[in-house]
Parts: sequence; C-alpha cells; structure tokens
Amino acid sequence: MRKVFVFSHSRTVLAVVVLISLLFTTSPIQSKESRDILRAGTAKIDITPEKPVKMAGYAARTELSEGMHDPLSARVVVFENNGKRLVLVSTDNLGFYNGTAEPLRKAVLDKFKIEPSELFLCAIHTHAGPSLTIDKEKGHPNNLEYTEGLKAKLVDVVRRAIKNLGEVHTGIGVGYSPVGANRRELKINNTGESSIQLGRNPYGPTDKEVLVLKVAKPDGTVVAALFDYATHATCLGGRNLNISGDVLGLAEQFVEKILGPGVIVPAFAGASGNIDPWFRVLPSFNTEPGWIPEPVLLGTLLGEEVVHVFRDISKDSAGGEIKTSFTTLNLPGKPSGEVSMKKDSPPTSLNITAARIGDIAFIGIGCEVLTEIGMAIKAASPYKHTFVITHCNGAAGYLAPEHLYIEGGYEVRSSPFGPQAADLVVKEAVRMLHEL
Ligand SMILES: [Zn+2]
Repeated sequence: MRKVFVFSHSRTVLAVVVLISLLFTTSPIQSKESRDILRAGTAKIDITPEKPVKMAGYAARTELSEGMHDPLSARVVVFENNGKRLVLVSTDNLGFYNGTAEPLRKAVLDKFKIEPSELFLCAIHTHAGPSLTIDKEKGHPNNLEYTEGLKAKLVDVVRRAIKNLGEVHTGIGVGYSPVGANRRELKINNTGESSIQLGRNPYGPTDKEVLVLKVAKPDGTVVAALFDYATHATCLGGRNLNISGDVLGLAEQFVEKILGPGVIVPAFAGASGNIDPWFRVLPSFNTEPGWIPEPVLLGTLLGEEVVHVFRDISKDSAGGEIKTSFTTLNLPGKPSGEVSMKKDSPPTSLNITAARIGDIAFIGIGCEVLTEIGMAIKAASPYKHTFVITHCNGAAGYLAPEHLYIEGGYEVRSSPFGPQAADLVVKEAVRMLHEL
C-alpha cells in the first residue's frame, strides 16, 4: 500500500512540475487562446411579401393575403470557432414544404462553402405567412416570385452575418411559459364513442421550457437573444388573410423592442406538433374596444418570459468549441391496417442535424415533431441545455410517438411515418448528441 502511495505521490509532483513549465512556455498557450475564441455575427432581413400571396398552413384557404399585421423577418446568427461554423437561421415562415428545403439550403451551402451539418435552416411555423413553392406549373406566380426572392435574401442575410463576425461570450437561461397547450382533446359523442379532436387538452403533455441563449460582445453589448419554445404559431386560423408572424413572430418582435436596436431575437419552434397556443385558430385580430388581440396577448406573454429569463442570465462564458453532424434517416412508412391505411405507405427520409457550442447543444429535426419526442430527446441528452428545433432543414410531416397510434387523431392520421419511427429518431438524435 505504502509503495503505491509513494508512486502516485511522485507522479503528482511530476505533473505539477510539467504544469509549471507549461505555464512559463508562452507560445502554445497563446495559440490555444486564439483557438478557443468564439466569434459570432448577426443579421436580420425583412421577408414580408410585397404582393398578395397564397397563404400557408390551411389547405382550405384559397384566397390571397389581403394585408399585413406585422412584418416577417429572417434572422441569422453565425457562430465560428477555429474555422468551424454553425449557421442558425430562423425564418418567419410555415416551413420548407413543397420541396423548397433543398434548393434554399443549397443556395446558402454553396455560396459560403458551409458543410450541410453547419446549417440549421428553420421556420417558426406561422400559419399567417406565404406558401413557398418552386412548382412553375401549379404555384401562384406571386408565390414563385416570393420564394425566388427569399432565396436571394437568405444568401444576403447570411453574408451580412458572416461579415460582422466578432468575439462573443454566451450565457444561457431557462424559464417556462403556459402559452402552449396540448391540442389533442378527447371528445365523446352522443353514442359514447371517443375520439381525439384538435382543441385544447390542459392535461396532455406539453414542453413548457423557454430556453434562451444570450450572445454578447466581451464588453457586454448584447447582439442576440435566441429562444426555443414549443408551440404552433396558430393563434390565427384559416379565415385570417393578414400576414403575421403569429405568436412566435410577435414574441420575437416584442423582445427586440424591449432589448433595443442592435439585438436580434430569432425564435425556434420546439417539439410542438401537438401543441397549439392557448387561444387557437381565430378568424382575425380582434380589436374591439378594450380587447387585446389574442396573438398579440400570447406573443407578449411569451416574449415577457424570454425577457425575464434573459435578464436573469448572470453568467457569461467565453469560448466554446463548435461540433456539428448531419444525417438522413430513411424511416418506415405506415403499414396497411395502421390508422385505417388501405395499403403500405413508402419509407420517408428525415434530416437530423446536431451541433454544440461548448456545452450548449442543438438538435434540428426536419419535420413536425410531437412534444413527447422532444421531451424524450432533452431528457436523454448528455447536455444540460439542448435546443430541440423542429421545422429545421426539411418538412417531412408529423412525427408522433408510437403509443398515440392507438387513439389516432389528426397528427397520427396525416403522418407519413410508421409507429416505430419516433423511437428510431429519438435514439439517433441522442446518439448524435453523445458523439459530438
Ligand atoms: Zn403544424
């Protein structure tokens, strides 16, 4: 025993000597410092349609937009460490449906020589914005023009963010908001049959976390506050014809107003496939005397929590290594017999993107993920804080956990995936996080 003690003691002395000699060797330490510097650049661009457009999110709505309540933007934060980048893009849009994810991503990837894993191209899922289309046969000319213009604007806004890269410190905070509610409501009809309808289910699972990432210059000047929250941006329904960012867009605008010029506030939609705002699918902004229109009320309520969390972030850290990874899963489709499927549906591919900056993790999923799945990924993540971001780098449809296939409901019926797909996604996402 004593011999072992002496041996380990002498090793400790040796380690101290090596450490002290390293401290007096300046050059390797300097290069380590420059390697450790985390830089970030931010930019924002207006993407409000200039012409009336077909609106996204409700198939039955065929009219063109008739005006604007609040502007739509694309917000970018580019992080860089030791030549490695992470480009986070939040657009006030429904999502990259109709095959638009790849051409928009490619435009940015090619222009800036970014690896696929380094780009999170995300949408806040507002149902009061334009539909994106590249279909020259079926797409409305104004929407075709809008989508082409959006591509150019995304390249422009990423360029501007890269141009103003500078050293930053980051801080993270967590809050909770009641704005989102589980929407899978159990209804029982006159004959006693039960079914799951879109409505409000206050007892259903809901990820209420408001995760906020503060980005500031070393002198304390704040340049961005990113936040992640799980709700559909659907205070407004299919009868609304006003352009708006809805609850998440209005929250972004509110926080930017409070934090002042020079700060951009990109929102990211968490796992919200079955989460709607507390007030949902309303026909318009109700402005009768004394009334606060519900999208504004809920956007402000969520925005205030973002500001509370932001102001409570007391610890900023410098540096942060960036790691990223990207994979495309080929997931099983629904077999015949499952939720009244008449025949087998084909496999569907799904993009998953993972990244970390120091000990803050990001997982981007290219579809509409139900809240239980996002909560499972967060719970199994090896990181204390994990941004689960949906509508990211793809738009493959709803992804529901297996047990909900028993009761069905809208998300399960319209999902292209088989019941086992969600577990495969959780496992792969968690594996990617562990391997970063
Ligand atoms: Zn949706």
